[in-house]
Amino acid sequence: MKALALKSCPNCGSRGIKRVSKSFRAKVKGRAVLVPAVEREICPDCKAEYFDREANIAIDAYCFGKTRQRA
Ligand SMILES: [Zn+2]
Repeated sequence: MKALALKSCPNCGSRGIKRVSKSFRAKVKGRAVLVPAVEREICPDCKAEYFDREANIAIDAYCFGKTRQRA
């Protein structure tokens, strides 16, 4: 998948899908982490959320880059 906005929802086919920037609750090694302002596509019909590569990188950087710890 490319880092482009989706035209329609892969899950339900809705064309109402839109790009938003919201905080995202991630789980890192059993701990909840709130990542601020993650851009992703959200389908208003089925509530599916789609993260592109940049969003995943941003989440990883936030979760692992900032408070890196050795297990
Ligand atoms: Zn949908």
